[in-house]
Amino acid sequence: DTLKDIVKKVEANIELNKEEIKYLLEVENEEYDALIRMADIIRKECIGDRIEIRAAIEFSNYCRKNCNYCGVRRDNKIKRYRMTEEEIIDEVEKLYKVGIKTVILQSGEDPYYTTDRMLSIIKEIKQKFRMGITLSIGEREEEEYRLFSDAGVNNYLLKIETASRRLFELIHPDDDYDIRVKHTRLIKEAGMRAASGGMIGLPTQTIDEIAEDIIFQRDFGIHMIGFGPFLPAKGTPYENCKPGDLKLSLKVVAVTRIVCQHVFLPATTAIATLHPDGQTLALKAGANTIMLISTPPSLRDNYQIYSNKNMVDLSFAIKSTRDAKRKLPKYLNYDYLKELGYEIEDEL
Ligand code: SAM
Ligand code: SF4
Repeated sequence: DTLKDIVKKVEANIELNKEEIKYLLEVENEEYDALIRMADIIRKECIGDRIEIRAAIEFSNYCRKNCNYCGVRRDNKIKRYRMTEEEIIDEVEKLYKVGIKTVILQSGEDPYYTTDRMLSIIKEIKQKFRMGITLSIGEREEEEYRLFSDAGVNNYLLKIETASRRLFELIHPDDDYDIRVKHTRLIKEAGMRAASGGMIGLPTQTIDEIAEDIIFQRDFGIHMIGFGPFLPAKGTPYENCKPGDLKLSLKVVAVTRIVCQHVFLPATTAIATLHPDGQTLALKAGANTIMLISTPPSLRDNYQIYSNKNMVDLSFAIKSTRDAKRKLPKYLNYDYLKELGYEIEDEL
């Protein structure tokens, strides 16, 4: 039958075609269980029983763009904040002391953080802590990508969101599909690893388009692929749309692991928000990375890119990790984390 044929192709390292990817996205019951098992086995073979914990600092919620789905879009009436360079560095230092190896600096598209301001922050983090840096600050100039790369930025996260031109244009009033694709290329050419991904369950999105999303990640050699459910955000044009489906989101994670293999797949904050067990289930379905939100608590509430965002604090990360029977990185020192004020419910 079809699933057996697909498994044989995967075992023989033969690329799956779009029809086969669609088939996997539509499996149910025992075939669903088999899909998840296959993804888990491939995760184990390619990555091992290791979870990467990365921490994100959402340093500004100002944005010049108006993406229809996003809670921090320009027209949304929310309290805006910007962290100073000093505040950002203080936060990074805490992460460094805990043993986090990669920090993700994320914001809306905020021109206040000029090339020079960003370079100053990047250089200070590199000099003081030698940590890996992922930038997620939207589309920038070609020259800036090169400067960021030269200053030591390792990864640049700019999601395609959807690889369907039709849908991309529907959800992005200010963006152009070809430009987003071009930027994905420019990021790699500048010497950084490209991180991408997209949202599952966007209004009007089809299974065919989701299959294209996964193929896009494979064809572009994307290194970190964040697929999570779309979640409606208050005050946006999509506030009354229904959220993405948990099971479909898990299937996408599993199929992405099977198709792209040696990549970082986060168990996203969005999936944790959709369902309390979302992250654990994603870790059992091929995911291997957890993002810890490390935005100062006083600011977090204003970075609601979708409503009721579930804060993936460290206690949750640890719980998910244990439930998924994975090893925690040794460098996480719980006593120290407690001193920093993280709540830890379960100790291993
Ligand atoms: N401004 C930068 C950008 O757009 O790349 C970085 C910040 S943006 C808030 C980060 C990610 O949040 C986007 O790539 C998008 O996938 C996700 N996001 C925004 N609104 C969302 C929603 N309503 N549901 C799920 N994910 C959402
Ligand atoms: Fe701004 Fe990014 Fe949200 Fe779009 S997705 S409105 S660019 S923060």
